[in-house]
Amino acid sequence: FPSPFKKAVPIMNKLQSSGFEVYFVGGSLRDLFLNVAIHDIDLATNALPLEVKKIFPHSFDTGIQHGTITVVYHHENYEVTTFRNDGDYLDHRHPENVQFVRNLQEDLKRRDFTINALAMSPTGQIIDYYGGIDDLDAKIIRCVLNPYKRFEEDALRIFRAVRFTSQLDFKLETDTYLALKEKVHLLANISIERIHSEFIKMMLGNAWQKGIQIIEETNIAEFMPSIDPLKLVRLLKSTYKNVHFPNEELIWATLFYFEILPQNQISKVLAKWKTSNSVIKNVQEILLFCKNYEKGQRDYHLFYGLLRENIINGIFILRKFAELQLPDLITNYDSLPIHQLKDLAVSGSDLIQEANFTPGVDLGKMIKLIESKVLKGELINDHQQIIDFVKENHV
Ligand code: ATP
Ligand code: MG
Repeated sequence: FPSPFKKAVPIMNKLQSSGFEVYFVGGSLRDLFLNVAIHDIDLATNALPLEVKKIFPHSFDTGIQHGTITVVYHHENYEVTTFRNDGDYLDHRHPENVQFVRNLQEDLKRRDFTINALAMSPTGQIIDYYGGIDDLDAKIIRCVLNPYKRFEEDALRIFRAVRFTSQLDFKLETDTYLALKEKVHLLANISIERIHSEFIKMMLGNAWQKGIQIIEETNIAEFMPSIDPLKLVRLLKSTYKNVHFPNEELIWATLFYFEILPQNQISKVLAKWKTSNSVIKNVQEILLFCKNYEKGQRDYHLFYGLLRENIINGIFILRKFAELQLPDLITNYDSLPIHQLKDLAVSGSDLIQEANFTPGVDLGKMIKLIESKVLKGELINDHQQIIDFVKENHV
């Protein structure tokens, strides 16, 4: 076994010696065949959740109603899920109630795509009821069994399909594609949190262009708040078509920069997508930096108060997207004596204690003066030198 799997073998042995079946399942097998990094090892068993808990006291409930127990073994977590089918889907969303089943094939049948429906026994035998290996070889995303039904059951699979085309650089199989196109409207049942997460995973993927292509050809963008689909496809043209997005903030900033999302409503739009507040703040900073650069600002005002990661993301946009020959902006940023007020070697209370200031307007003005002198290189950011300067200039 490759090592991430090998580490889970003792868990399998324990289940087996208690009389249960157990298999490796899901994304880890797909990633094994694709020779890409494996994140989490999932196990499927015919043991019921309470039986799993009894065998592994060192475990916790992750989603016991869905049959999942997380077993902690040698400081690593393994999700052990009871074979199940997904019962009835009433609202085109993943069901709340599942039924446990006693055989593997039933469990694999409820999985979304053939490449995600592989299993491996504790002896290393591969179980492939739905042609997942052939599809991995052919680089195809294909629903398990009837794609129309599968998208109807759970519309999130529509966006998962798009995401996998990008992450894996695969194509949608024809029937899966036609079914997806027909069922796109069911995305109305999917929460924005799930759409957000799939969209970002898609954009972080190596072949995000494939994902955008599918969004263009279908009506998926209707379920992506404030996105202008006609402008979205511009990303597929000219210089920016070959970039790889390293983080979420850069993705949003790029979408605003190109007015695929409305630039004057950054926080409103991102709140609709339910991004975190720190993402909102960072995206605003990246855009501010790009705009100020374009307006010709080159002195410390261009960088002051901004986070280094935001400058790096901003430079990425300016470089890749505006085809600018840029000066070495990050070196300029790094060589600023201070990057924010709290980097100053003195604080207001230092001035009160050491230079006879009282709280008030004068104190505020003095801090501002010190700040701008330090930034202009007229005063060294050294505690004693600043205090000396203040004493000389405090009348
Ligand atoms: P990754 O963890 O890299 O996002 P993954 O394939 O492991 O990819 P998970 O969301 O962790 O995806 O799901 C684990 C497995 O559960 C999948 O491989 C698939 O077999 C099944 N699965 C997940 N979501 C669905 C769904 N909406 N419908 C059907 N099966 C699903
Ligand atoms: Mg996973």
